[in-house]
Amino acid sequence: MTATIIDGKAFAASVREKVAQHVTRLKSAGITPGLAVVLVGEDPASEVYVRNKGKQTVEVGMNSFEHKLPADTPEADLLALIEQLNNDPAVHGILCQLPVPDHINSEKVLNAIDPAKDVDGFHISNVGLLATGQKSMVPCTPLGCLMMLREQHGSLSGLNAVVVGRSNIVGKPMAALLLRESCTVTIAHSRTKDIEALCRRADILVAAVGRPQMITGDWVKPGATVIDVGINRIPAPERGEGKMRLVGDVEFESAAQVAGAITPVPGGVGPMTIACLLANTVTAACRANHLDEPEGLTA
Ligand code: NDP
Repeated sequence: MTATIIDGKAFAASVREKVAQHVTRLKSAGITPGLAVVLVGEDPASEVYVRNKGKQTVEVGMNSFEHKLPADTPEADLLALIEQLNNDPAVHGILCQLPVPDHINSEKVLNAIDPAKDVDGFHISNVGLLATGQKSMVPCTPLGCLMMLREQHGSLSGLNAVVVGRSNIVGKPMAALLLRESCTVTIAHSRTKDIEALCRRADILVAAVGRPQMITGDWVKPGATVIDVGINRIPAPERGEGKMRLVGDVEFESAAQVAGAITPVPGGVGPMTIACLLANTVTAACRANHLDEPEGLTA
C-alpha cells in the first residue's frame, strides 16, 4: 500500500482562506480581529516564528500587534504588558512566544493571559475546559491535527488512537480532543512498554516525541492514518557539508508504504499550526462580540 499524503500546506491555505472570509464578515460589523504576539529576548527560531505569525495575521486582514522586549525584561514588566493587552478591546488574541528567559516563570505568564484571549490554549482554565469536554480555546497544533483527521475520516468515533508524547502543548491536548471525538485513546511516552505493539493497534497514530524518525513502518497498522508532529533537524551531508534537513518523528519512507494516509515533514502539521492560531483569533473575536462561532475553524 502507498499512503495518501496529507498536504498540510494546501490545507493550511484553505484554513487561512476561511479565516479571511470571517475577518471580512467581522469587519463589515465594525470589528477588526487583532492578535498580539509578545516576544522576550532574541532567540533566532522564535524571531522567525513571530515574524511569520505577524505576516500571516496581516495577510488574512487582521491587526497584528508585536511586542518585542529585551531578554532582561523583569517578570513584573511582562505581566504588566499582558494586563494592558487583556484590557485592550482591539486585542482579541494574545500569545507569549515560548520559551521565555529563565528568570521568568512561564506558567505565571501564561496564566496571566485572559482565558478568552488565550489563543494558544495554554491557560489552566482552557486546559480544564478541554479536559472536561467544554468550549475552550484549543492549542493550535492539536487543533490542526484534528482538522486534518476530520477531513480524512469524517467521524472518528470508535477508532483506536495512539498519541506518542504527553507534553502539555501537544500530546495531552491531542489525546483530550480525540477522546472528545469518541476515539479509544492511549497515550504513550518514554516509559511505555512494548510501544511498537501498541502503535501497531492504532487506526490513528499521532507522533509528538521530538526524536527523529523513531517510528518506522513496522510500527504502523496497515491503512492507519499517521500524523507526524515532530520537527527535527538532522545532518544532510548529501546536500553539502554542514547542511541540515528537517524530518519528523516518523520514518516517512517506510511508514508511507504501510499507512493509509500520512502527513509529511515538512509540509504536514507545521503549516497548520499558524493557520490554527489565526483561526483561534477569529474565534476569540466572534466570542467576544457574541457572534456565531466561525464554522469549521473550531474543535
Ligand atoms: P516534549 O519534549 O515536550 O515531549 C516529548 C514527549 O515525547 C514526552 O512526553 C516524552 O515522554 C516522549 N518521549 C520521548 N522519548 C520517547 C521515546 N523514546 N518513546 C516514547 N516517548 C518518548 O515535546 P513537544 O510535545 O513539545 O514536541 C514534540 C515534537 O513536536 C518536537 O519535535 C517538536 O519540535 C514538535 N512540535 C511541532 C509543532 C508543529 O507546529 N508542527 C508544534 C509543537 C511541537 P516523557 O514525558 O516520558 O519524557
